[in-house]
Amino acid sequence: MSSSDNQRPIRPTRRRFLMTSGAALLAGSTGPRAESQPPEQAAPDGNLGKTAHVVVPESRVEVMAQTDVLVCGGGAAGIAAAWAAARNGAKTLLIERWPFLGGMATAALVNIWHLSDREKIVIRGFAEEAVQRAQRRGWIDHRWPLDRHETCQFDPEGMKLVFHDMLDATGVQTICHLAAGEPILASGRIQGVLVDTKRGRRAILARIVVDATGDGDLAAKAGLAFDYGREADGLVQGMTMMYRVCGIDESKVQSAPDRERIFAEMRDAAKRGELPPFQPAFGIGHVRNRSIPNMCPVAGNPLGEEELTRLTIQGRRQVFAYWDWLRQRLPGLEKMAIEQTGMGLGIRESRRVRGRKMLTRELVLGAAKQPDAVGHGFWMIDIHDPKGSGYTTWNDRGTHNMLPAGASYHIPLGMCLNAQIPNLAVAGRCASSTHEAHSSVRVQSHCMAMGQGVGTAAAMALASGADMHQVDLKALQARLKADGAYLEDIPQG
Ligand SMILES: Cc1cc2nc3c(=O)[nH]c(=O)nc-3n(C[C@H](O)[C@H](O)[C@H](O)COP(=O)(O)OP(=O)(O)OC[C@H]3O[C@@H](n4cnc5c(N)ncnc54)[C@H](O)[C@@H]3O)c2cc1C
Repeated sequence: MSSSDNQRPIRPTRRRFLMTSGAALLAGSTGPRAESQPPEQAAPDGNLGKTAHVVVPESRVEVMAQTDVLVCGGGAAGIAAAWAAARNGAKTLLIERWPFLGGMATAALVNIWHLSDREKIVIRGFAEEAVQRAQRRGWIDHRWPLDRHETCQFDPEGMKLVFHDMLDATGVQTICHLAAGEPILASGRIQGVLVDTKRGRRAILARIVVDATGDGDLAAKAGLAFDYGREADGLVQGMTMMYRVCGIDESKVQSAPDRERIFAEMRDAAKRGELPPFQPAFGIGHVRNRSIPNMCPVAGNPLGEEELTRLTIQGRRQVFAYWDWLRQRLPGLEKMAIEQTGMGLGIRESRRVRGRKMLTRELVLGAAKQPDAVGHGFWMIDIHDPKGSGYTTWNDRGTHNMLPAGASYHIPLGMCLNAQIPNLAVAGRCASSTHEAHSSVRVQSHCMAMGQGVGTAAAMALASGADMHQVDLKALQARLKADGAYLEDIPQG
């Protein structure tokens, strides 16, 4: 695969943030440089304008583990990548900063998977096994017909265990409570990562590292270029505080004669500023008698800790404001309670690490097929207003933003690989795409297909002594199919 295939030139604009390769490892590095800051969001490194520095002395760091493949981040993409790498023979370690697996699926309660192109299921492999395992345990209550993309809705608590079961079964070593820190770089390659443990700083060494942190933290610290935000104003998609409600008397709500009028009044109250904005098409779908509405928009920079803290609290306040208002008006909510809010905000978009290939709106909507395909995608251009109004392009489902039923595009391996550090790949929502294409390929099922592709490529590269971009694509695709992935229409030649 040529490194120039479909590669966009690196063209710094005011919304592109570039780092010098390897600089982050040096004491005193200032991190990504914003040529000018997006107007309503802080710089993408969460820079708060503090310029003081300290010099960190050189130190000897104990090696706590050595592995073939190190996956950093246990969300949809990272879990699938680790599962695939181990399944294909690589000694694999996954580290996750939180005490459980799942990323947005479990931590932020994002509990819907889209698996069909509206005619057939085209995300299989890892995703299919996860669905089957969850179904056997009764953790998927609802499966929609194929002609809706939304194929299943699951219980996030159960899914935490499904993911652990799958990794245990393939022999992946999983360590939670462990965040990847700085990358260890030498001779143009990544050697591993530093981690801060309760016992002090340690190193994990690996032959291949997969950055599946969602935000591309490791890739950015390693000096890879990334894009952030939309072309027009550099803003990223809005975030959402998901939450779980219990105690709703659904039949009473459904039969309430004034139901539609009450929801219309609620929208008007939000327009007048008496209620915070909300996503008007929120559903109250149920899993195990609990509802998880996607309703509460929050806008800002997901990479700044202080801003994120403020926005997270704001999101929780919004959730309670909606339901205090509704409870006073809508019959059936007398015994309802907010059982749980997401442990953090649901983050849709932050860094998109520049890859050998970049997925674009045209490739998505044109159902483009690619020689280095590792999976299929079909989700629409689904952008939640970066200014936090609650509007999403999904609300009006404009056909100009959708693929026709039965059509899908290829997810290329090249969007996960880069031209600078051959043994560092990314997987998931931080892979290389434009803002618009990202809004499609970010969904969990697509991230799982991508993760399975990256993990398999990593294992095959190690087995053959090559780098990931040199892997025999036909052999990779045959391996993916043997592991249950759906892969069709691959261009020949
Ligand atoms: C509100 C909301 C609604 C959505 N709705 C849907 C939907 O209906 N259907 C759908 O399929 N998708 C939906 N999405 C998109 C989808 O959930 C995400 O894009 C997807 O989860 C991304 O997967 P990922 O593995 O790339 O990243 P994430 O799920 O973000 O996982 C990244 C993981 O890396 C860990 N991590 C981060 N930094 C480190 C570090 N330094 N060291 C170790 N671990 C680290 C994190 O803790 C996390 O577990 C939605 C997203 C949001 C926010």
